[in-house]
Amino acid sequence: MDGGKKVWVPHPTDGFKLGRIVDIGADSISVEPFDAPGTTINSLYDRTFPAEEYDNKDVEDNCALMYLNEATLLNNIRIRYMKNQIYSLTANILIAINPYFEIPDLYTSATIKKYRGKSLGTLPPHVYAIADKAFRDMKVTKASQSIIVSGESGAGKTESTKYILRYLTENWGSNSGPIEQRILESNPLLEAFGNAKTVRNNNSSRFGKFVEIHFDNKNMVCGGFISHYLLEKSRICTQSKDERNYHIFYRLCAGAPEELRKKLKLAPPDQFQYLRKGNTQFFCSRQTEKALNQNRKSQQYLKLGSLNDPVLDDVRDFRVCDEAMTKMGISDADKSGIFMLVAAVLHLGNITFEENTEDTKGGCKVLPSAEDSLSASAGLLGVDREELRDSLVSRVMQATRGGVKGTAIKVPLKPSEAASARDALAKAVYGRMFDFIVESVNKGIPFNASTSFIGILDIAGFEYFQVNSFEQFCINYCNEKLQQFFNERILKEEQALYEKEGLNVKRIEWVDNQDCIELVEAKGNGIFSLLDEESKLPTPKPEHFTSEVHGRNKNHFRLSHPRKSKLKTHRDVRDDEGFLIRHFAGAVCYHTVQFLEKNNDALHASLEFLIQDSKNPLLQRLFTGEKAPTAKTAGKLIFISVGSKFRKQLDVLMEKLAATGTNFIRCIKPNLKMVDHLFEGANILSQLQCAGMVSVLELMQQGYPSRTQFSELYNMYKRYLPPELSRLDPRLFCKSLFKALGLDDKDFKFGMTKVFFRPGKFAEFDQILKSD
Ligand code: ATP
Ligand code: MG
Repeated sequence: MDGGKKVWVPHPTDGFKLGRIVDIGADSISVEPFDAPGTTINSLYDRTFPAEEYDNKDVEDNCALMYLNEATLLNNIRIRYMKNQIYSLTANILIAINPYFEIPDLYTSATIKKYRGKSLGTLPPHVYAIADKAFRDMKVTKASQSIIVSGESGAGKTESTKYILRYLTENWGSNSGPIEQRILESNPLLEAFGNAKTVRNNNSSRFGKFVEIHFDNKNMVCGGFISHYLLEKSRICTQSKDERNYHIFYRLCAGAPEELRKKLKLAPPDQFQYLRKGNTQFFCSRQTEKALNQNRKSQQYLKLGSLNDPVLDDVRDFRVCDEAMTKMGISDADKSGIFMLVAAVLHLGNITFEENTEDTKGGCKVLPSAEDSLSASAGLLGVDREELRDSLVSRVMQATRGGVKGTAIKVPLKPSEAASARDALAKAVYGRMFDFIVESVNKGIPFNASTSFIGILDIAGFEYFQVNSFEQFCINYCNEKLQQFFNERILKEEQALYEKEGLNVKRIEWVDNQDCIELVEAKGNGIFSLLDEESKLPTPKPEHFTSEVHGRNKNHFRLSHPRKSKLKTHRDVRDDEGFLIRHFAGAVCYHTVQFLEKNNDALHASLEFLIQDSKNPLLQRLFTGEKAPTAKTAGKLIFISVGSKFRKQLDVLMEKLAATGTNFIRCIKPNLKMVDHLFEGANILSQLQCAGMVSVLELMQQGYPSRTQFSELYNMYKRYLPPELSRLDPRLFCKSLFKALGLDDKDFKFGMTKVFFRPGKFAEFDQILKSD
């Protein structure tokens, strides 16, 4: 790093700032930023990055950058984003920035046609180019393919997934065919039941999915299959400030025809407790405020009450969802069954309890004002009202006398315990119903004629919030697995390219995150195992579980006590309240207080009994196959591990992914305001780090990251050289040039079509030439 040289230095909001070196100290560098002459920023050596000569010129493939580092990557993405070029490539990984507005012609049928059959790199980077590559690879290799779409909430994963589905069905399906239509219609349907408005995204998917598009032996779309993961069930009963419950609740209240409203005893959303939890003032832009004011006067607003969200049109969306169900082949009876259960959950939420002062044994009773809700939910669930009451306010337990287990007895519950039982029931009903909807979708798109598939994974990226609970733990574990897979694959591809170009490079080594994965999933002392073990104890306790995690994984590099964390973003957590894991993307402190209950999918025995006896045909189907509680099990706490189920699902998914050719799309959210043309550099940089892109760069650094076509070098440099050299063909030209300059053989390699440079060497070479 010489004085006067142009460099990038870290900046708290921009990510990096461009400046010129003014002083070189023992362990830091002083840089004068171009946009603030006269000031200096001190930067550590390893955080100061050389800048491109022409820092306003962008490239489609980040690997074509002269200097490939975090700062130049960020800058290249920024320049392109500002020109509405939201896609770029790094090797074969597509980086996609959410534009937050419709870019004209970007996704039209004409564009779809344009990308068909074109190799990656021939046209500007695009999701379509990745979809097409997946299809061509499938056709040529006959092996199934997958596209892993990742990124944080609001980054554009689901939208990208939909574009890919459209690309595949439009190109290789019969346009009006029922299967293709159903595959596309599955989106609005699943989104109605599994998406919600959050502070990060007005249409946030609260579940992960892997959508397989199956192809027959003529490579035409013949069916599909959707697997889903980890529906966020806590949202059914409670929402954070300014967030909503699942769309379907509001849509049903807003859009159900009169007769259905009566049957389901629907009311405006603000009259249901389960829909009120997140309600404070909605964040409104000026436009939406205007819409809200107009709405306020309208009939619709009166019907909806104050929970009508101005950004969303629940009335229209109900119709869309209703039609999607029909198109999916869901029968009227099932449709009506689904709506009944949605309404039942709403009424359940309104059953509130108070202490029963008349009862000497303590316990609670249903508030008189909630009697109507009790009747309504019992009616819709097809159970006896008094039995529902009984199962909510008491629980059957096994009495133990002198260490000997006795008969089952009924124990009254405190109001808070009854409320938990009620919430557990609501979550169980909704969760099973969601499973049923996905199953119905799958029935509508059978893939009997399949020879191979293209699977698209749309699952939440690495998450860390102020308070991180079981949900974040599961999703971050999943991301560790995907990251490992990503590293292995990218590495493999990079090596394959070196081989194809005949480079004869030694193997690149990579630091694995297997230790972190094992900390979570190992049998015995792994965190999931310890959690299940705790759940099976007579009186499971979060503090005990937490101390077991620490005690049985002493000195594990990836694990710490929360106190030791100096992370200001995390709320203070006591040692027995949580643990900190050093993930590949950063350290996260987990709060364990709700781990036990969130890891248990079982209802207590009395509720299980009740549901098994339901007269509601759909509910009966949802709970069949369940082991009915017997006199023997009646008193025991039944435990169904959410973690184990997720791990099994993830194993299946990883196996599937391992057997496919893989493509990666890294989605990036440009800003927290969810607006167009606003590039928040530091935020974006941290997403690139979480997406493993910075590790990819590091990985590339061990190999030959800068690569340029011979012809490109030829065009760039011929004017600097004597004319007799420029008469040579590009490959020979480059060879002679390198020889003439006396370049070290270790710094570059000649491939078949490209020349590959060791990190930073391309820039050196560039300088020698220009200074000559
Ligand atoms: P979550 O994890 O919360 O589900 P996500 O990554 O799936 O988030 P999306 O729902 O796909 O995010 O995108 C959020 C919003 O951003 C969309 O509703 C849409 O308004 C906008 N958006 C995303 N991608 C694009 C795009 N390519 N063009 C225009 N707008 C987009
Ligand atoms: Mg989504």
